[in-house]
Amino acid sequence: MQILSVVGSPLDATFSVRSSEAGEEVTLESRGPRRNTRYGPGLRTLLERLRALDAMLLDAYLDTRQTRRQGLTLDERRLSLPAGSSYPLRLAAADVDALAAALTASQAGIGQAAGARGGNVTRRMTMLVSAAGQPFPRPLEPVLAGEPLSGLLAPGAADEAAGAQPLPLDGPLETLVTRAARREQQMLRRQRLGSATDAPCDLCARAFPVHHLRAAHIKKRSLCTAAEKLDPNVVMIACIECDALFESGDLIVDADGTIRATHRNPATPDLEALINARAGKPCRAFSQSTSGYFSFHRDLQAQPAAEPAL
Ligand SMILES: [Zn+2]
Repeated sequence: MQILSVVGSPLDATFSVRSSEAGEEVTLESRGPRRNTRYGPGLRTLLERLRALDAMLLDAYLDTRQTRRQGLTLDERRLSLPAGSSYPLRLAAADVDALAAALTASQAGIGQAAGARGGNVTRRMTMLVSAAGQPFPRPLEPVLAGEPLSGLLAPGAADEAAGAQPLPLDGPLETLVTRAARREQQMLRRQRLGSATDAPCDLCARAFPVHHLRAAHIKKRSLCTAAEKLDPNVVMIACIECDALFESGDLIVDADGTIRATHRNPATPDLEALINARAGKPCRAFSQSTSGYFSFHRDLQAQPAAEPAL
């Protein structure tokens, strides 16, 4: 399958996904004179998307006709990680550029005669991955490819489809886009809430029936990349009040996961009371995987130009 860039344009790089007992085998095809000429950007894009899905890189190795002919063992074909890293590597904690550079650079020496110079660093390679947190969306291949509607076929699609109306393919584009966004929201919501009938709000910790809770984007959805939109960590579960207070920037979550009041907007004593009831409490959705999104939200609120309230 061909890889699409974050803006949805096709990259000249192809890959495939195969499920095995050990995990998901993500294979990137080799670069040739006239094929897969975007091998490097393709690899980085795949790694970014795997990171957004909170994947664990269990192993990575060359997987070429030549290495098979040479009868090299898995150990001999294994690709190196950046200094200081080892398998299994949780991609959430990895620098994708450094990782891609190490994976490609280490291809040069594999299966080469001693003393040979140079060596191809854009060869067919396989990354063995598994889900570190939430299960991977299925099928995984279109999600990694960046197919725009792939999120709709992801987790819970089967039971969701039962209640979902068919997409009006002849309808206006806006309808399609809105429906796609709504389905994506439903998918994220399901990933966070599962089959629970009630759950606590990630900000105020009060419990509500799930239909009173929202999958609230920590990083504004309109500013998310395609991969981020499908990242279960991009949303938290918020009650209606907390969703509004977070969205308006009256509340932020600081770098150690504590809820803080910004006092950036005009308030009344009643609004102040809502804000103060939450300030100083820990945010239940704060983790290593969400901290980047909370930091984005903080930075956005720190900018002077506030949208006028309606
Ligand atoms: Zn709340």
